[in-house]
Amino acid sequence: MDKFIVSARKYRPQTFDTVVGQQHITTTLKNAIKQSQLAHAFLFCGPRGVGKTTCARILAKTINCEHATPEGEACNECNSCVSFNQGTSLNIHELDAASNNSVDDIRTLVDQVRFAPQAGKYKVYIIDEVHMLSSSAFNAFLKTLEEPPSYAIFILATTEKHKILPTILSRCQIFDFKRITTNDTVEHLEAICEKEGVTADKAALQTIAQKSEGCMRDALSIMDKIVSFTNGELNYNNTLEHLNILDEDYYFRLIDFMLQQDLSGAMLLYDDINRKGFEGDLVLNGFASFIRNLLVSKDEKVVALLDTVESFKQRYIDAAKNIPPAILISALNILNEAEIGYRAARNKRLHVELTLIKLCYLQQAIELTAGDSALHKKKIAEKATAVPFRKIRPILVDPSKAEKKTEIKQPGIEGARLIIEAPKQPPVVAPVPAEPKPAGTRKIASLEKLRKQFKENNKEQIDIPLTQETLNAAWKDFIVQLKENKNSAAQSFDLAQLKVLDENSFYVYTANAIEYRFVESCKTETSEFLQQKLSNSQLQFYIIKRENREVHESSEPKPLTAVQQYQKMIEKYPLVKELKEKLKMELDR
Ligand SMILES: [Zn+2]
Repeated sequence: MDKFIVSARKYRPQTFDTVVGQQHITTTLKNAIKQSQLAHAFLFCGPRGVGKTTCARILAKTINCEHATPEGEACNECNSCVSFNQGTSLNIHELDAASNNSVDDIRTLVDQVRFAPQAGKYKVYIIDEVHMLSSSAFNAFLKTLEEPPSYAIFILATTEKHKILPTILSRCQIFDFKRITTNDTVEHLEAICEKEGVTADKAALQTIAQKSEGCMRDALSIMDKIVSFTNGELNYNNTLEHLNILDEDYYFRLIDFMLQQDLSGAMLLYDDINRKGFEGDLVLNGFASFIRNLLVSKDEKVVALLDTVESFKQRYIDAAKNIPPAILISALNILNEAEIGYRAARNKRLHVELTLIKLCYLQQAIELTAGDSALHKKKIAEKATAVPFRKIRPILVDPSKAEKKTEIKQPGIEGARLIIEAPKQPPVVAPVPAEPKPAGTRKIASLEKLRKQFKENNKEQIDIPLTQETLNAAWKDFIVQLKENKNSAAQSFDLAQLKVLDENSFYVYTANAIEYRFVESCKTETSEFLQQKLSNSQLQFYIIKRENREVHESSEPKPLTAVQQYQKMIEKYPLVKELKEKLKMELDR
């Protein structure tokens, strides 16, 4: 069998120039070496697998090189370089702080620092995962870090810069390593494949690069694994298979089903995916990334953020054109929620299927909510001209609202305070021309037309004029019905007093707010019942709340104005007039 060991070790860069994707750091280091302006302590921060330890080793090798090139690179030929490359140099000490984080470990290291190098110029101490050091270990190290011997150089590496104490940070030259871009990774992988004689499609390498998320070590080990499984044939399909990644083609099909609201298609597709051994959370997560990519593809400015293999890019851009962003954003929302709830779900499959159902009906839901708000607006508009009955009736001004209380303080007359109920205007019935119309009646005028039409259409139905006797009888019947239904409003109906206003309308007097509310709550039923019982399709009534029935009734049916009332009053009590004139009182109009 072909012995193929591509590994992160075999292709670990040996010079600054071959470090992938960290030019900003390697250039700075090379310049520092050239100008002999090396710091004594460095802190290399950045995600794992991006070249921190590699750079530290190259730095150690380069500063000890006997014949460094003018560019600031190691020669890789001198004794020092060879011993570094073979890993036998005594001038480099590596400490993994993740497993050696005690004070004793640091003390051992500090003890070693005392001895000058026997060959070469510098002793380099690399402390990996330095954030793992215990705080006492940090303190034991601090003194040495502050005043190291001239031959000692410390390189601290960490993935978590925020965990490093400020006292350490202030003593180090800090270098921030970047994630390696997909393109850089792909180029590096391509170069290795070429050297190793591996045939690889670009899509496969791109997939590997994406999966490794900027970590070169991961990318190389993934490639190793696939190459060893496939005998040096690296293609898109076997890469997907080995990485357990679902082909994006499935997502394109899924979104098609979603947009066509084809639930059965989506369910069958999910079943197919499931049979291939892909778990639900992977599908949810993959579909969310897919939709994110679609969203990104919609805008030319951010299309660079599209995270996919080259061959799919145009397909994304084309697909995104036809999908409204509202759907994409809502779908992302649904998927996000589904992912959060996935772990807690007992029936994982049902959980994913439920999500698919939501996605398939998303478009409909969005349309519905859009429609709903229109409906809502309509309702608000209707409220302004509320019609009390279901059938089209004349518009009325509620007399209970028009009710005005005139309060006249009359000092002197038995110290009394007279409350004069302002006369009740008879309800303003729009079709009666003699009555004043309420302001803003344009709408009402058009309703009038409708009403006339309605009347003409219903000419055959003759309404029987209302009388007090028939009304009282029908009212009692309604109370009986209420009592049968155990309606708590029955008592209030019983207590209410009725007064016929004209052949089609009457007043209902209630003694207080509670009774008023009870009667009001059954207004529609009452009206329907009475209209039928009394064979009068135009029958209507006004509920009036008042404290004093007697005063009110005396002013019925022809209500008086304040002036008229005053005149009546002075007929009866001439003294009132005198009083008014003496006190220069004005009438409330
Ligand atoms: Zn050398």
